[in-house]
Amino acid sequence: MNVVIWARVSSREQREGYSIDAQLRATRDRATKNGWTAVREFVVAESAKRGAERLAFNEMFRWVRANARKDKIQAILSHKLDRVCRNMRDAVRLQELEDDCGVQLSFVENQFSPGAAGALSFNVMAAVAQYYSDNLRTEVLKGMDEKVRQGWPTGHAPFGYVNVDDRDEPVKPHPEKAKVVTRIFELYATGDWTFERLSDYLASEGLTYQPSQPRFNRTTLAYILNNRFYVGELVRNGRTYPGKYKVFIDRTVFDACQDVLQGRNRRTGHPTLMFSGGLLRCAFCGRAVTGEVICRELAAGGVNAHAYYKCPNNNRAPNHPNVRWREADLDAAITEDLQSLRMPTPEIAEWFREAIRSAFADVTVGERIRKQALAKRQAELRAMLDRLLNGFLSGAIDEPIFKAKSDELKNELSRVEADLESAAVYDPEAGTLAVRVFDFSQNLAECWHGSNSVQKREILNCVSSNRLVSDVNLALTKRKPFDFIAERPFFKDGRGDWTKFEPLRQALAAFSQPFLAPPAPYLLAAGRFALPQSA
Ligand SMILES: [Zn+2]
Repeated sequence: MNVVIWARVSSREQREGYSIDAQLRATRDRATKNGWTAVREFVVAESAKRGAERLAFNEMFRWVRANARKDKIQAILSHKLDRVCRNMRDAVRLQELEDDCGVQLSFVENQFSPGAAGALSFNVMAAVAQYYSDNLRTEVLKGMDEKVRQGWPTGHAPFGYVNVDDRDEPVKPHPEKAKVVTRIFELYATGDWTFERLSDYLASEGLTYQPSQPRFNRTTLAYILNNRFYVGELVRNGRTYPGKYKVFIDRTVFDACQDVLQGRNRRTGHPTLMFSGGLLRCAFCGRAVTGEVICRELAAGGVNAHAYYKCPNNNRAPNHPNVRWREADLDAAITEDLQSLRMPTPEIAEWFREAIRSAFADVTVGERIRKQALAKRQAELRAMLDRLLNGFLSGAIDEPIFKAKSDELKNELSRVEADLESAAVYDPEAGTLAVRVFDFSQNLAECWHGSNSVQKREILNCVSSNRLVSDVNLALTKRKPFDFIAERPFFKDGRGDWTKFEPLRQALAAFSQPFLAPPAPYLLAAGRFALPQSA
């Protein structure tokens, strides 16, 4: 088979000793070993002159495209994927080469393992590549900005509104659903409801969200009650624009709801010690933090009850300060921590959600095809073993030949069966769960506000494996994949540039990986918290 070799090295890498020669040696060795003929070598050493790499890539692309058929070129051989795909626009064009001319990519060091994990890795790459190939960052965004500046939402209007084909008023209140939204705000503003009870109550009144998900669950209620769209504010990239659509929620009612969401003016029972019972540990001595309710009689009569949490250690080391928190302060610290999981912009979040969906969609298809192929081979091998045995029993085959051949077939059969078994572990619903958990991570703070103490404990257990409090700090040890989304280790300054390929790829891969194995119970629990909130 004929191949084209592609080697690339940047000036920085050259300084670090990663040379073109080493790459060429590795790729040529591989070609020789596989019995391939290298028809041509393309080499680019990135110099001070920018754009040289681009020219070299374009030259290779054109040449391969023009000569693939004539020279029977079947692959571009490179050292690693990042040699050809530093620029992800190029990855999209290389895919084009494969589709149009049958020229595949081959690497000396394959980064993709077989099976679902490898397919996912590649799909994550492709999803990120997609991000670069579409117009998201340029034309589309410009159009969206303009629409928002004019006072109209982009995409689907929130629940309670309807998109209509009317140039002067493209978004109108929905005659029925607007009433439901009004009811939700008015009820919640009283401070007498948790999301859970409100959800039950709306269901009992026969009010429904949408056909695929009739109940208003916590996520949906949190999303509605926190959405400033309902008071005529369009928020985009941190800026607020005045909306032109009709508003049907009263400003004072909305503000009252915000107070309740922030934990003010809530009248849902006496304080319970929701953070006690081993949920939190002392950062200094590791003891489980305990809670107490302190009641103070008020001068005007009545009692004021406050919940406090403290380290119960009475034999504290000299450097162990007093660890004592008011419940409200603890709640605020947790809220702030949970908010850190939110993506920098809604566009990134939306893209991320789509990328997870598409990455998993292909894995499912790939796994199904692979499983079918394995099952077919299994049947073939069994039939061959049967024929072999018949041949042996009828005397047509000698014992040594029978033995050798039968061992060979049995070996392959056990390999195929092991592969089938590992393939069976992968659940096609994994992608759905991954998207749900992602939605949960993006709405954590709202979900937290609207939850009762039992649910709050559950949320903390979903997101974190360990929770430490010092005298001034709270630290949640996040579980996978929340750790990666919260800490963003690929950003030195904690913010970083999300429009770069590598951070996006790392984040997406890290987020998706835990869903390939049978998901842990906390992931299933997180998935139950947040059903997908479609428009
Ligand atoms: Zn302590």
